[in-house]
Amino acid sequence: QVVTRFAPSPTGFLHIGGARTALFNWLYARHCGGTFLLRIEDTDRARSTPEATAAILEGLRWLGLDWDGEAVSQFARGARHRAVAEDMVARGTAYRCWSTREEIEAFREAAKAEGRPPLFRSPWRDADPATAPEGAPFVIRLRAPLEGETTVQDEVQGAVTWKNETLDDLILLRSDGVPTYMHAVVVDDHDMGVTHVIRGDDHLTNSARQSLIYRAAGWDVPVFAHIPLIHGPDGAKLSKRHGALGVDAYRDMGYLPEAMRNYLARLGWSHGDDEFFTTEQAVEWFDLPQIGKSASRFDFKKLENLSGQHIRAAEDRHLLDHMLALFEVQGRELPDSTRQAQLLEAMPGLKERAKTLLELIDMADYILGSRPFVPDEKAAKHITPESRGILSRLTQRLQNASWSRDDLETECNAFSEAEDIKLGKIAQPLRVALTGRTVSPSVFDVMVTLGREESLARLADATA
Ligand code: GLU
Repeated sequence: QVVTRFAPSPTGFLHIGGARTALFNWLYARHCGGTFLLRIEDTDRARSTPEATAAILEGLRWLGLDWDGEAVSQFARGARHRAVAEDMVARGTAYRCWSTREEIEAFREAAKAEGRPPLFRSPWRDADPATAPEGAPFVIRLRAPLEGETTVQDEVQGAVTWKNETLDDLILLRSDGVPTYMHAVVVDDHDMGVTHVIRGDDHLTNSARQSLIYRAAGWDVPVFAHIPLIHGPDGAKLSKRHGALGVDAYRDMGYLPEAMRNYLARLGWSHGDDEFFTTEQAVEWFDLPQIGKSASRFDFKKLENLSGQHIRAAEDRHLLDHMLALFEVQGRELPDSTRQAQLLEAMPGLKERAKTLLELIDMADYILGSRPFVPDEKAAKHITPESRGILSRLTQRLQNASWSRDDLETECNAFSEAEDIKLGKIAQPLRVALTGRTVSPSVFDVMVTLGREESLARLADATA
């Protein structure tokens, strides 16, 4: 039974790298029919905030990465972390260390002066604890092996080996009883039954150290998979300008969650040449061997392109729901039920052209807005004395139309023939009069959506 987890530190929003880590863990668990757990690493009280936790949960929910069971608070497990550290002392795989900050500093200085690595070796590793200064503060350190090697069998990076002499007796429990990150992660992953740790490769060295803690506690080491970090398009570390933003920023830019899942999955993982896929396909295909070894590059163009494809593939109702959700985020008034029905009706034409929900909303302005429709700068050029004349003569003819799509099209064609004017010369001013834009779904669809009364009123506005 596969168990994965996402273990964010609640010190900020859910950024794009974290979202990708969460996605990979979620995909792998779902692919294997396993469990995906969430742990909030809030042990560092000074840096953790409830707002950040809320933002992370909200980001995961928006992305559709549902976790199994309750989110675990790492801070709440402090007693267990202390108990395991004490247990390791009892087993002899950890020890209490009374070295003071000054003594550690002096050790490092001396080591440097003698050309030895400045890795602290505590005298308390072998000293008799009975000789400890009474009542003085101590930390609990891991009794790490001094010789030999530690190898992490990484599913992405392969076998990575460290000489044990380069790994020190790291602190498990600080003198105030607070566990270190290294210790808490191991105890939590063990207790939560985590079988696969999938995370950014900035944690690779931590895995060597954590392997030693697992062994010292007498536990099995999980499978590790370290994913290369995300870089900017220029290969440099991802910055804000490159897209290192919170997931909420992508929601606000009008990307569908399924488009984000698709795009993030492709950041470091591949399935042949497939670029566009559904989440169901990703769940079916996702596996660790297809995670790439080199850093992936964030590419807004690619995200936009996928986003447009997901909009075209989406159900009309689904798009409307996401548009309305975005309205709420923007604090905009929701369209009334008539307009919502018009949006639904127009959706097949609208979604053909939009790359994001923001573009979709912008394009739906002829439904969402109200008269009089002031044409934008480009559109205004199509309203001339000549085109006004055409429109007012067309309006007269349309008075009698039955207002079905076919009928409107027939009337316009007949008008074009009778007046010997190309249909394009009629359709473009007509579009501008109805929508205020030069780009819209077909004018016949627009007229059907708006209805007879509203369409004729807009034509009257334009020819007045
Ligand atoms: N809390 C750590 C972080 O946000 C991740 C720990 C882990 O995945 O093992 O970087």
